[in-house]
Amino acid sequence: MIDFRSDTVTRPSEAMRDAAHNAPVGDDVYGDDPTINALERRAADLVGCEAALFVPSGTMGNQMAARVHADRGSEVIVDDRAHVVLWELGGLAQNSGLQVKTIDTSDRAVPTPAEVADAHVAPDHHSPGTGLLWVENTHNARGGIAASPDDVAAAAEAARARDVPVHLDGARLFNACVATETDPAKMVAPTDSVLFCLSKGLGAPIGSVLAGSEQFVDAARRVRKLFGGGMRQAGLVAAPGLLALENISRLADDHENAARLAAGIDGIEGLSAPAPDTNIVRVDSTAAGLTAEEFVARIETEGVAANAFGDHVTRLCTHLDVDASDVDEAVTRVERAV
Ligand SMILES: *Cc1c(COP(=O)(O)O)cnc(C)c1O
Repeated sequence: MIDFRSDTVTRPSEAMRDAAHNAPVGDDVYGDDPTINALERRAADLVGCEAALFVPSGTMGNQMAARVHADRGSEVIVDDRAHVVLWELGGLAQNSGLQVKTIDTSDRAVPTPAEVADAHVAPDHHSPGTGLLWVENTHNARGGIAASPDDVAAAAEAARARDVPVHLDGARLFNACVATETDPAKMVAPTDSVLFCLSKGLGAPIGSVLAGSEQFVDAARRVRKLFGGGMRQAGLVAAPGLLALENISRLADDHENAARLAAGIDGIEGLSAPAPDTNIVRVDSTAAGLTAEEFVARIETEGVAANAFGDHVTRLCTHLDVDASDVDEAVTRVERAV
């Protein structure tokens, strides 16, 4: 099976397994785990933040950020196709008592300053008040769009000018940075917190990082405990995470492979696949008379795995465990299947 379902399906390398085996550890809830401490320091420096916190998943990190930033009952300005809106079980409402004010940001993937201004509400005896601006980069559901640092900064400045904090869901932050040739610290600077996943394109088996100011991370540490994410000898999973940070520049390979995959599939009668910004390819099978579910089932019989992402749209992700020859083989198989 050539598995394009997600960039989370990668298996940890031998080096990662060795690193886990040999990691010095301690009780991280007491702040005693040297491997966790090293990862948090490296990660914070990498994104230009004062501090960082290792968390079990991207979802938990995002939910923690919302809980820290926004007062219960306030509104979160967020794209209507954001991961936190579509795929986190309504967690903003469930975990933090927040209401969403969604915007269709279309192919820009980040709200314009005018959209932020328009969506913003001041709290009074009737209005909830805006508690947080949420930005996702790259944007998963919109096809791995890499927003420019200027677009992120413009949105963030519009929020901060109104005393609204900004969270960046950068599950694939480094894909965005590689695609736009931006230093991660520059991408993150206009925001108040950032979440990025070690377990996606970077290839770690487990874990994400939530970063921000000392004060933010201190508050987030309490919320992590509250949400059940305080772990003990967590250095075992942080050690592969440290190695994963070495995989940032090679994300360019995934982007090249995705471009190759999209071009190949786009050349197949009945299928269209626009050129991607990063490692997420979206295939529209309408003209082939196939729903996404049918398309996924067909290609699976030929040994290609993907995920339905809409009625007629299927997502294919490139990652560490597929190379250019897998991509070429997959295109041949998809053609045969359709
Ligand atoms: C995957 C993803 C998350 C959640 O990460 P998990 O580790 O799967 O919980 C959050 N935001 C975006 C944009 C994602 O793609």
